[in-house]
Amino acid sequence: MEDIFCRIIKGEIPSTKIYEDDDVLAILDISQTTKGHTLVIPKLHYDNFLSCPQEVMHKVMDVAQRIGQAEISLLHARGVNILTNVNEAAGQSVMHFHVHVIPRYNGGEGFQITMKGQDTSGMDLPRLAMDISKAMKKE
Ligand code: 5GP
Repeated sequence: MEDIFCRIIKGEIPSTKIYEDDDVLAILDISQTTKGHTLVIPKLHYDNFLSCPQEVMHKVMDVAQRIGQAEISLLHARGVNILTNVNEAAGQSVMHFHVHVIPRYNGGEGFQITMKGQDTSGMDLPRLAMDISKAMKKE
């Protein structure tokens, strides 16, 4: 079954469009976590950021950057979170690659990212870094 963003792209479901070109669509998120919360979506279906071809991903990120800049200048946001969730374990609920652009105003919003550090004394961080480095796909 098609996901909701495929249907929005085909025009079967209405959306509030901010930007559109041949490859990318940007719309207001229906939830408006903060005022201006935007989704930047490739028109072709890719499940997530990791499975999206680099060229398409670059086009999506270019639009996300420009929308973030516009939200700072137009809406006077004090900051912007740019994020994309990959898989359910990371909170992805629509399995069609999209980037959230979330303007931040005063910190008291219904959106917070908290990164709690953990005890790293039992971890071999240089080894971990080397292993991840080796596992990276060649360009
Ligand atoms: P995820 O949890 O996959 O990272 O984000 C999915 C986002 O899509 C959520 O923020 C949700 O509010 C938004 N969303 C879900 N359905 C619709 C819809 O029909 N229209 C719009 N504009 N946004 C939607």
